Amino acid sequence: MESCNLPPPRLAVHTITTKPWSTEQCIEKYAAAGVGGITFWRYSFEGRDPAAVGRQARDAGLEVVSVARGGFFPAPTEPARREAIDDNLRAIDEAAAAGAPSLVLVCGAVPGQALADSHAQIRDGIAACLDHAAAAGVVLAIEPLHPMYAAERSAINTMAQANALCEALGSGPNIGIACDVYHTWWDDALEAEIARAGAAGNLTAYHICDWLSPTTDFLNDRGLMGEGCIDLPQIGRWVERAGFAGFHEVEIFSGRWWASDQDAYLKRIVDWAEK
Ligand code: ZN
Repeated sequence: MESCNLPPPRLAVHTITTKPWSTEQCIEKYAAAGVGGITFWRYSFEGRDPAAVGRQARDAGLEVVSVARGGFFPAPTEPARREAIDDNLRAIDEAAAAGAPSLVLVCGAVPGQALADSHAQIRDGIAACLDHAAAAGVVLAIEPLHPMYAAERSAINTMAQANALCEALGSGPNIGIACDVYHTWWDDALEAEIARAGAAGNLTAYHICDWLSPTTDFLNDRGLMGEGCIDLPQIGRWVERAGFAGFHEVEIFSGRWWASDQDAYLKRIVDWAEK
């Protein structure tokens, strides 16, 4: 039902935020709640045709914002690194088929491998995907991850590192940065690095949630916006000042919220965006 108090069209939700819901339920429920965009996690395409899923979302009135996620480039052997690149090429194809202009990259790391080696493998891995991304019309959005993930998930841990990586790769139209507040809020260079990304045309995605205090699980205890200690209005202003006009993508991994009534939870998300 139409109403005059729909949330801003720039609100998008990642399918993993409402993990208990099927792909079809996410599309139907987000659209009904007045959410403007959807980011599909790759598991959302399992057993489905990404092109059909993308069409279904657009038919429901949602913009397909992004696909999450590619990356994980570092590996101890050349064949394993080649395999990672191949998987990223497939992810780019899935994003293009779904009509998503962007693929989020969680860059990867190998426990025990020097971070500098991982940095080089990440740079080479992304470079090997850039032509394919350009042909597909997909932006590869590097997401810096909180340093607590440096050993296993990503050797790219700050906006400064993500900016330097984009710049090393030429800051072209198919490279960008997904700035996620969960990973970056603590950084005293955040304002300056957001501005740097914006000035170079590299700020292409913005992910929101909250950091709970105390936090009980470093993967699956993210908070709903307003529940924790991240100054979202402040970071939102920095992002806006940097020229970012895209979606504010809600991405929450939370055992607690996943165990709750998903309709009520989605309403909380939308209510937060409306206020
Ligand atoms: Zn994110």
